[in-house]
Amino acid sequence: MIIVESVEEIKKICKASNDGRVIVPTMGALHEGHIALLNKAREFGNVFATLFINPLQFNNLNDFDAYPQTIEKDIDIFDQNEVDVLFMPSTEDILDQKQIQAIDAGPTGDIWEGSFRPGHFNGVLTIVNRLFELIRPSKAIFGLKDIQQICLIYKELSSVHNVQILPVMTQRNSSGLAYSSRNSLMTEDGKRKASIIFKALKSGKEYWRTNRNLENVKGKVIELLNTEPDFEIQYVENEPLSNLMRPGEKDFSDLFGEPNLNYQLIMIAGYIEGIRLIDNIIINSDKY
Ligand code: AMP
Repeated sequence: MIIVESVEEIKKICKASNDGRVIVPTMGALHEGHIALLNKAREFGNVFATLFINPLQFNNLNDFDAYPQTIEKDIDIFDQNEVDVLFMPSTEDILDQKQIQAIDAGPTGDIWEGSFRPGHFNGVLTIVNRLFELIRPSKAIFGLKDIQQICLIYKELSSVHNVQILPVMTQRNSSGLAYSSRNSLMTEDGKRKASIIFKALKSGKEYWRTNRNLENVKGKVIELLNTEPDFEIQYVENEPLSNLMRPGEKDFSDLFGEPNLNYQLIMIAGYIEGIRLIDNIIINSDKY
């Protein structure tokens, strides 16, 4: 594995062509979710992983300061998972004002997760755009745990950079808790309690399957979440994925590999032991 820290050097390496590079952007503190992305990437070509804790996507300074960092361990994991090039730029280098272009996620960056994290998706898109510009990949892998993120990247960046965006299922531990870098900030007891999130998502999906009644889904999910007094709900949304599209925009069929896509999502955000967790489920697809 080659480790590249400078923008100039990664540009040089990637200048020749955009053939066969698959990018996996991460903020480190790697877990099974990231490893699933790396496994998917390896199916398609040379794996370019990136490790950069993007300050632009944190709307809360304490959250940024507390973000877990396990760089030495991460380097070993990238290496063991056959990453070809690991790009880990310094903040100054990648955010160089003269080079970087700010990307605006538009109105669909201000709903759902975006309404609780103002500017978050602008920050994500600005950095992912910069990484696409420098690495010029033919494919990019992202997780469905951050479903609004992957959809906005698909919408705003995939055609511009001619890069195919590939989704990976949310990876979970045996109790259903979605892996997240932030999980390492919780106690074992907290993680056990956090499994209520997936139980609630599944109960919402099950309720919809048996009753075909969308109106009550949210209530069912909240009812189950409330059985865990230490889970503090920030939001529960039950929305069609198409709400991320403006009139006239193409839908997400290409992204998900399903025609006539009409996905209905449940999304949950909340806190356990002061740690913010998010998760989601698509209630009307067996594929995802
Ligand atoms: P992060 O390092 O948290 O910015 O995440 C990097 C990538 O890993 C993003 O595309 C995330 O959606 C994805 N990811 C994070 N957690 C999971 C998970 N539990 N399952 C699948 N993908 C994930």
